[in-house]
Amino acid sequence: MKNDIIQIEITDITPEGFGVGRNNGKVVFVADTAVGDIITAKILKETKSHSFGKVLEILTPSPCRIDSKCPVSAKCGGCCFSHISYEAELKLKQNFVKQAFARIGGMDIKVNETRFDKSEAYRNKVQYPFGRGDSQKCIFGYYARNSHRIVQHESCLLQDSVFTEIASFVSKTAERLFIKAYDEESARGVLRHIVMRKNRKGEISVCFVVFENHKKLSILAEEIKKEFPQIVGIHINLNKRKDNVIFGDETFCILGSETLTDTLCGKIFEISPRAFYQVNAEMAEQLYNHAKSLIHTEKEGKVILDLYCGTGTIGLCIASDKDKLCGVEIIADAVENAKKNALLNGRSQENTLFVCGDASLGVEECKKTFGKPDVIIVDPPRKGLDKAVIETVAKSEVKQVVYISCDPATLARDCGIFFQFGYTATEATPFDLFPRTGHVETVVLLERTDSAI
Ligand code: SAH
Repeated sequence: MKNDIIQIEITDITPEGFGVGRNNGKVVFVADTAVGDIITAKILKETKSHSFGKVLEILTPSPCRIDSKCPVSAKCGGCCFSHISYEAELKLKQNFVKQAFARIGGMDIKVNETRFDKSEAYRNKVQYPFGRGDSQKCIFGYYARNSHRIVQHESCLLQDSVFTEIASFVSKTAERLFIKAYDEESARGVLRHIVMRKNRKGEISVCFVVFENHKKLSILAEEIKKEFPQIVGIHINLNKRKDNVIFGDETFCILGSETLTDTLCGKIFEISPRAFYQVNAEMAEQLYNHAKSLIHTEKEGKVILDLYCGTGTIGLCIASDKDKLCGVEIIADAVENAKKNALLNGRSQENTLFVCGDASLGVEECKKTFGKPDVIIVDPPRKGLDKAVIETVAKSEVKQVVYISCDPATLARDCGIFFQFGYTATEATPFDLFPRTGHVETVVLLERTDSAI
């Protein structure tokens, strides 16, 4: 019952970072715990099937517990694994993928060890919400878990300190210029978010997401450019929405360059503020190289279809000059980036096509220009593939589908559907692109069997 004090052992962790224990047979979820912890917890909320508790005391700590290096980790919703060793986190992530395949996909496939690189300072993109603190002061930080309360901080271990320095400078300068932070409750004010991206050379692009334009934003832009000369472009995105979506539809550049240029797998990429780009460049390279290694057709000039292609990164990193590459993506700015990126990387126009549209149109678009695809790469958002996409992919009779996923649950569900269409997979490889958080990327090769319908 609510407010009960119970003693439990934590036996599992969910991908959201909740420890799982049992009290009289009923599942209890408790944040900030680790497998092996024996704790006393207070029940905060109870439903028919499970309850949520809060740790009161750790009676016996788990062997994988460490002291978090972050002073705000207990409040901030950004990380959920900063209190366990990184080694234990990698095992957990491998296990998330195994469990998803077993429970959701009903499949027993081999899940390799989680591939990793560094566990700190890996993020090349940061998006901070602004809000109003004491006496209406402009503050920034990350949201507390399951809330829109901003947890302020002076540094974050997951990213370069320059991001916090810029945000801090912006909030102070905005105060001085009387540019107010947006207030969600009253739906008033200007500054909603600051979104920053850094390339491997250290150049930075900044985008202010604002509720309404303000004549002093250009002064703010000039002042931050003066203080941080590594900023190469400053943008405004107008967002009048009242929901949680960060970006609105209109983006324009107010200073410097429209795009930021970065390199991945030796290729050059121009990226607009709205376009998707992997936040962990080192691990993205590992992931793309692995995806490439899975493709095993010797055919000269094979046809590769890259669905959910963003700025074209995967296809352009994987395709040889002779291959025919078709990419499909829903965000128009990203498609424009992809077309430009193809040119920047010297691809011939005859062998390259990027289309703006829904992924379900991909096979048709590819067939019109290059014929049937030999390989299809899919890299959808967390919600996974729509059934229509799986159907068009499977019906194209493509022999190899490389599925890159950021959510093991939807990956396992979709692989289950591919299996019904006669595809098989033997192994999955997790990649830790987001250390200290519950997220994990996974790559699976699906192959068409002879018995496919
Ligand atoms: N493959 C890219 C991007 C992957 S993120 C990379 O590695 O950088 C997923 C991408 O899918 C995003 O760019 C998003 O804009 C796009 N997307 C989302 N829904 C889509 C849809 N229905 N059809 C096509 N693309 C979609």
